Amino acid sequence: MSDKSDTNRTITRRQFARTTAFGLGVAPIFGRASLPLIAPERRRLPDSDKLGIALVGLGSYSTWQLAPALEQTGRCKLAGIVTGTPSKAASWQEKHPELKGHVYSYETFDRIADDDAIDIVYVVLPNSMHAEYTIRAARAGKHVICEKPMAVSSAEAQQMIDACDEAGRRLYIGYRLHFEPHNLEAMRIGREAVFGKMKYVQAEFGFRIGDPTQWRLKKALAGGGALMDVGIYALQAARYVTGEEPVAVTAQEYKTDPVKFAEVDETINWQLTFPSGCVANCSTSYATGQHRLFASAESGWLQLRPAYSYSGIAGETSKGRMDFPQVNQQALQMDGMAQSIMTGSELDADGREGLRDVRIIEAIYESVRTGRELSLDAEFPIRRNR
Ligand code: NDP
Repeated sequence: MSDKSDTNRTITRRQFARTTAFGLGVAPIFGRASLPLIAPERRRLPDSDKLGIALVGLGSYSTWQLAPALEQTGRCKLAGIVTGTPSKAASWQEKHPELKGHVYSYETFDRIADDDAIDIVYVVLPNSMHAEYTIRAARAGKHVICEKPMAVSSAEAQQMIDACDEAGRRLYIGYRLHFEPHNLEAMRIGREAVFGKMKYVQAEFGFRIGDPTQWRLKKALAGGGALMDVGIYALQAARYVTGEEPVAVTAQEYKTDPVKFAEVDETINWQLTFPSGCVANCSTSYATGQHRLFASAESGWLQLRPAYSYSGIAGETSKGRMDFPQVNQQALQMDGMAQSIMTGSELDADGREGLRDVRIIEAIYESVRTGRELSLDAEFPIRRNR
């Protein structure tokens, strides 16, 4: 429902969200915990108070994860779609009649500025299109959630942050695991040094990719291969389980199918060194399944396996099995982001966090290219001020 239909002058949460620009204070990495919004604590707002989300790009993630998740959210709802495929526009409106009048193509996208039903634009396009649609959404006055990887270069990522800052709009990255209880527990164990100082991390995410014609294998659309697509989860995990920023990186690339992976990376292994002396061995691949986070500290360890899936995440520590519920990560993520907009609170999963990952990814590719260990501070500095 649009604000135009509000019948009294009470400031609703949605009006607050739309009219408030947020200053961003200085905060340490992962210092602003995204507390788990597990089902019983969640409040369902009346539909009129929910923030409206427009999904941009109706591919598999929008169709099979985000749209169903939006049926479970308490603070936001599906309010618009942007698609280049007329048959999808028709079938989505059939399934969601409330979308009528809120359907856009890439050409008509900018008209979203006049659509009061839409508070948040969720960019779910191939990676190289993230920057353009995030910047256009910010200029249209909308808050943005952008899928990972945030962008295909740190220069683009910075432009996205700047555009959202200039428009006074929030920018979040679709880091759903910041809302998943097992991963949140891994972050807590690391940050609170539950087992003492973290010493060694192993983080791996890979899968066997199918269709050789898909955009994920085209550099112009994907920006990179396995590293950009799923390696970013292993990189995130190494960073959030240590609570530290890496200072050096070394990386190696392997290719078993140079035809299929002519344009992008198939398998990359990389090693990170952290200021405390902790080291991480990380791996990503489009050729083989790997799905684990292991972290060993002075007096104990933790393991998540699988660590990054939509469901079925399981964990244990040296003290025993983790006992957390399975949650709808995407629903919690979108609700958490809507809540952050409504209250002005900050989240770890924001544009600056996305930029740090993109910057380290650039350093990993550079280490592959040069065969050298790179000093991140000296050669790939990450702007730490928020
Ligand atoms: P899909 O290929 O399934 O969908 C992408 C959609 O983008 C297409 O269906 C199409 O939608 C639109 N599109 C516009 N231009 C192009 C183009 N030139 N080539 C291909 N598609 C185009 O991708 P996914 O949904 O799997 O991934 C989309 C984004 O979401 C990626 O950035 C990916 O990294 C991220 N993702 C995140 C996940 C997570 O767990 N956080 C999981 C999966 C993906 P339309 O026809 O409507 O125009």
